[in-house]
Amino acid sequence: MEVSLTLPNLLSPQDMFTLLGLIKESRHIVICGHYAPDGDAVGACLGWQSYLYKLGKRAHIVLPNAFPDFLRWLPGSQYITFFSEQAKQAQSLLNEADLIFCLDFSQPQRLQDMASAVFQTKAKKVVFDHHEGLEPTAFDFAISHPTLSSTCEIVFRLIYELGGYEDFTRSGATALYTGLMTDTGNFAYASNRPEIFAVVALLVQKGIERDWIYRKVFNSWSEHRLRLWNYVLDKNLRFYEDHRAAIFTLSREEMKAHKYIRGDAEGLVNEPLKVRGMKLSISLREDTERDIIRVSLRSTNGFHCREMAEKYFNGGGHDDAAGGQLPFPLSEALLTAEKAIVTYAETLRGEMA
Ligand code: 5GP
Ligand code: MN
Repeated sequence: MEVSLTLPNLLSPQDMFTLLGLIKESRHIVICGHYAPDGDAVGACLGWQSYLYKLGKRAHIVLPNAFPDFLRWLPGSQYITFFSEQAKQAQSLLNEADLIFCLDFSQPQRLQDMASAVFQTKAKKVVFDHHEGLEPTAFDFAISHPTLSSTCEIVFRLIYELGGYEDFTRSGATALYTGLMTDTGNFAYASNRPEIFAVVALLVQKGIERDWIYRKVFNSWSEHRLRLWNYVLDKNLRFYEDHRAAIFTLSREEMKAHKYIRGDAEGLVNEPLKVRGMKLSISLREDTERDIIRVSLRSTNGFHCREMAEKYFNGGGHDDAAGGQLPFPLSEALLTAEKAIVTYAETLRGEMA
């Protein structure tokens, strides 16, 4: 059975004209996503690449560094170029480009070391994103919708509006579904708008296998990963009951002991929020490549963590999922996090939403 659905447009007729014009005029297209790319960033890049291919445009995907292992099965992901590993090749693709799509980030700095390689080129830059804090001067054309679930939702809706649905491939649909699923925690948050399910229905109609995708992403753990989570929750997690908050740390040494691979800590920050009454969870993790602490924040029950990420952790993000970084050791990072929750004590202790 075919479902017929209408989705409200994201593009004005003028936007549509501009976007298609940019694509038509370009000869060398690069698509990039943010540092530490997640399911949404990788999925959006692959989905958009697949649409461009049907328009007769071959685009290269260039990411700042590797994505988690649990996304490796994504069709087409084996052809992605990583700036961290293939700097020369990435740089030459970027230098050649006349059009660069920036997906799932709104500020050049979210590319870390790759920022100047992208933003110093002459290429036109187009951004599709769902984060707050768009730096409009960095881009020539922007589709920014902070109320939407994911960049994959935006990319799908753009393809649909531009008339690309009929020819859209099952692999493209699989990539976009993956990002929609990961950015909403399998539709557990940021997923109250009915359009999301219209998008899902249209993706399912392309033949994607939702249950299989779920298992590939969420149920493909190593034993080490399971034991690492168990260890952190047992040994490193502190609850601050008075503040309805929890903080945990994870050091390089502990990661090494658990044979950590990229992505093993993904989602761990959500665990403390399973405890009744919690509003905030903070993860402080030593970066495996640089001497910084990677900070992840998640909030629920009416507390919003983005402002805290901006003020205390040099970061930002969404209302209930934000992150940042600190340039000092884990022990000091812990003090900063404790200071942050004390500052927000009133809202944290206040009524549950
Ligand atoms: P995660 O905790 O999964 O690394 O990040 C959650 C969200 O926080 C991301 O979707 C992103 O919006 C935001 N985020 C993470 N790190 C940073 C950062 O360093 N700067 C900004 N502006 N946002 C971040
Ligand atoms: Mn996203």
